[in-house]
Amino acid sequence: MNDNADLRPSRSASSDALRVSFEFFPPKTAEVEPVLWETIQRLAPLKPDFVTVTYGAGGSTRERTLATLERITRDTGLHAAGHLTCVGATRDEVDDVIRSYQAAGIRHIVALRGDPQGGVGERYIPHPHGYATTADLVRGIRAIGEFDVTVSAYPEKHPESTSLDADLDVLKAKIDAGATRAITQFFFDNELYFRYLDRALARGISIPLLPGILPVQNFHQTANFAAKTGATIPAWLADRFDGLDHDPATRRLIAASVAAEQAFDLLDHGISNFHFYTMNRAELTFAICHLLGIRQKGERRAA
Ligand code: FAD
Repeated sequence: MNDNADLRPSRSASSDALRVSFEFFPPKTAEVEPVLWETIQRLAPLKPDFVTVTYGAGGSTRERTLATLERITRDTGLHAAGHLTCVGATRDEVDDVIRSYQAAGIRHIVALRGDPQGGVGERYIPHPHGYATTADLVRGIRAIGEFDVTVSAYPEKHPESTSLDADLDVLKAKIDAGATRAITQFFFDNELYFRYLDRALARGISIPLLPGILPVQNFHQTANFAAKTGATIPAWLADRFDGLDHDPATRRLIAASVAAEQAFDLLDHGISNFHFYTMNRAELTFAICHLLGIRQKGERRAA
């Protein structure tokens, strides 16, 4: 059975059936650290299934990612998952990070290859002494300890991929290596995601493929990011933010309504498991969860 079809309440179903998870990135400087902790404190009472902390390709955030994971675990008790990339690192270096997660009590890793070192669009060259593919990394993680391993999925295919089928083969290889869940790249056209779920199911993929929802904090930044990652920006989305460059208050209202519409449409199609790219900001993610009926513990109500 497909776990994605398993969680399909109607829009009127109890919000107890809804599950959310949140992505954060480690703060770049001490000055912006309080912003992250305020965000986490605001979102923690929503009792996410798990929260994740990104990892800079090549290990650039290694210490900060670990420190953030440790503090989340210590101060909030939330289930924290550490991202990990294998680009530009030897197997020993990557294994050291896995062991440092293990020593910190982290039992869930989001395993990724990472972008080519020359940047998106360049050819990916595995480190000669490193993990060659994400599937190899997943196997390496599972060999070290009892980790729950999540991987990425691309409803519009990864930009380096020759076809969606080739991309699904890569996802299947990661699952065969031990991944138990995938989080998708963000998308704005839900039809692309529904079609992807059908193709994945036809390919024999039955693990949960959580939709990655990106509340649009900044339209131009999102459009740039989308161009790099191969995600489509629909014309209607650009139109909604048109003319609002100097009107942040209206932009926030539009962003909340866009993400809420997307989430409700997913819900109407039986999807009840959402992963939010918070960009370390609580406001939009909190508002969308509230609209979905996800409240602080003891306050959940029907959506
Ligand atoms: P994979 O899914 O392993 O592969 C991506 C593509 O590479 C494949 O579709 C295919 O085209 C090609 N490929 C891979 N293996 C093979 C093979 N054996 N043969 C032929 N082609 C192959 N980046 C970071 O630096 N840090 C993060 O914390 C981070 N978090 C992310 C979280 C999510 C949910 C997502 C969706 C992405 C994240 N990324 C992160 C970005 C990610 O590192 C890049 O998209 C990267 O280019 C691909 O890594 P991957 O693990 O998704 O690749």
